[in-house]
Amino acid sequence: MPRLPAKTGSHSAPKPLPNPFQQAAFFVTVNHLHDLPATAGPEVACVGRSNAGKSSALNTLATRNRLAFVSKTPGRTQHINYFRVDEDQDRFLVDLPGYGFASAPGPIKQRWQELISAYLNTREQLRGLVLIMDARHPLKDLDRQLIDWFVPANKPVHVLLTKSDKLSRQERLETLRYVQAELGKLPLQSSAQLFSSLSREGLEEAIVAISRLLDRER
Ligand code: GDP
Repeated sequence: MPRLPAKTGSHSAPKPLPNPFQQAAFFVTVNHLHDLPATAGPEVACVGRSNAGKSSALNTLATRNRLAFVSKTPGRTQHINYFRVDEDQDRFLVDLPGYGFASAPGPIKQRWQELISAYLNTREQLRGLVLIMDARHPLKDLDRQLIDWFVPANKPVHVLLTKSDKLSRQERLETLRYVQAELGKLPLQSSAQLFSSLSREGLEEAIVAISRLLDRER
């Protein structure tokens, strides 16, 4: 088989973006607001309906380890899990418990609501929110409710429309436009993108967007 000529100079493939989340490591699990770590560094929280693809997205960001695996262990699914992005700097990804368990008993649902809305509105270290939604089912009632809770915090939201591999090219474009238009109607700074843990569509865009949230001034 003839060999392809080696690529040189400006024709060589672009270097992959450095991914700060590759180094991410589990830090702590908390169950109550008063147990939140006394860390001073910036944090970005990830939230979404159960099954939206949040753990997969976190694991895809942290390509080297099974970062969010721990969040699926029994007993931890209703807790807040902290992951330290880099060892030398205090920057954190915070995995909030999945929502959408409409069938959960009243007290559990209520406790979840109180924990999440209090965290979103009182945590000073929080720089922004990553809202994870299945691209086939965006902006369900609970997603909208969560956004409503976050509006008073006056911080930006970045939306990952996950499992984009399940949509056609046309559906992907339409979904993204619809979500951007709906978010644009709300009194909040927002951005949205397509994402797939399977095809890795949107991985670099997500790295850039989440890094930007972490680096933003308070
Ligand atoms: P979580 O409950 O939000 O943490 O969701 P998971 O990450 O556990 O994903 C729920 C289901 O969706 C699992 O069966 C995953 O394999 C699947 N899934 C997650 N992300 C993707 C994706 O990008 N593409 C496809 N096709 N399936 C995905």
